[in-house]
Amino acid sequence: MKIAIYPGSFDPVTNGHLDIIRRAAKVFDKLFVCVAINPGKKYFFTIDERIHMMKEACASFYNVEVVFTSDLIVRKAKELGANVIVRGLRAVTDFEFEFQLAAANEYADSSIETVFMMASTGKGFISSSTIKEFYKSNVDISPLVPHSVVEMFQKNKK
Ligand code: ADP
Repeated sequence: MKIAIYPGSFDPVTNGHLDIIRRAAKVFDKLFVCVAINPGKKYFFTIDERIHMMKEACASFYNVEVVFTSDLIVRKAKELGANVIVRGLRAVTDFEFEFQLAAANEYADSSIETVFMMASTGKGFISSSTIKEFYKSNVDISPLVPHSVVEMFQKNKK
């Protein structure tokens, strides 16, 4: 059984992330989507909110499970029996960060492989930061995020 983990901040989850999840769920038998808690990072949404939005968005995928961790991703992967980390790549600007992260993860546990999926056409410009900026500036975000995210913004009046 091929088990993978897709970690990220997902602050909030976007249709770009969901596109990666949908495609990775076809490649792997089981996909854990791992909402990361990094104490050094300032998030817009709380961990509970980020998990809630992700769970709602992934409800229709039978082989996708949403988990969270404040531990190293390679450790969480091991605990879940996943030997592949999935990450997404948009423009060249993602490359340097992702390259460094993949090398660090390889150093921490070389039995876990990182695989990359390129953003689908038309999804490459979507990022969590853009969504937050758009929302603040009253730009319609509904075609770019799952419904659970629109609801969360409205509920919290963030
Ligand atoms: P992190 O803080 O770990 O980078 P993000 O939630 O920003 O978390 O992103 C998680 C992963 O999803 C990263 O590998 C990122 O490059 C990828 N990603 C983000 N947006 C998109 C998108 N629109 N298309 C494809 N991959 C994406």
